[in-house]
Amino acid sequence: MKRLPVDPGGRRINRTADEYDMARYIGPVCRLCRRETVKLMLKGIRCESAKCPMERQWRSSPPGMHSWRRGKGSNYLVRLREKQKVKRYYGVWEKQFKRYFEIATRASSNTGEGLLQLLERRLDNVVWKLGLAPSRATARQEIVHGHITVNGRKVDRPSFRTSQGDTIGVRSSEKSKKFIKNMVGESPPPVQEWLERDETKLEGRVASLPTREHVQIPVEEQLIVEMCSR
Ligand code: SF4
Repeated sequence: MKRLPVDPGGRRINRTADEYDMARYIGPVCRLCRRETVKLMLKGIRCESAKCPMERQWRSSPPGMHSWRRGKGSNYLVRLREKQKVKRYYGVWEKQFKRYFEIATRASSNTGEGLLQLLERRLDNVVWKLGLAPSRATARQEIVHGHITVNGRKVDRPSFRTSQGDTIGVRSSEKSKKFIKNMVGESPPPVQEWLERDETKLEGRVASLPTREHVQIPVEEQLIVEMCSR
């Protein structure tokens, strides 16, 4: 992880960039997929095309020199990679992730599955999965710019936690509708069964809460629980 030599106040510090509450990652995102050795679908249409580096054998190895020499790694590293994979897939930082973990720990259900469910219910994830945005990053932008509504009210927080029965729509202004229509394109992808989409109205509904089967990346949540419980 990149180390920042000085903090915003000019003092020398020894913290990783992740420990800062930074707004977003601005480095090359395909590098994140290569590091986690899984397609995190961070670039929209490009992720489905042959241009995706993960589709090309000579580009799909982990970044950095001599990465092929490294073995499986320690128990700690295996668990860290699982956690980082989930954080990068959902676009959350360490502080937010810890908060989600605390909520999942307090719940009576399985902690790992509860954690993934909380992340799946984030508004940016729901907007992306409804096909209203080509990627989760674009969904975030649509939300922050005030184009998205939940139950008819504007919501500009990508972390908003959706509930069963919520209706996700687009603001009634012409500008918002035109913007989202351009994002949706001609043939939006099929939605998962916990969501419903109304093609005519640019609208969707959370029909039921997501379950473990709806998480699209391969992840061993038990390893994350083991790491975060220490
Ligand atoms: Fe890049 Fe998308 Fe492929 Fe990941 S899945 S490597 S973000 S193109």
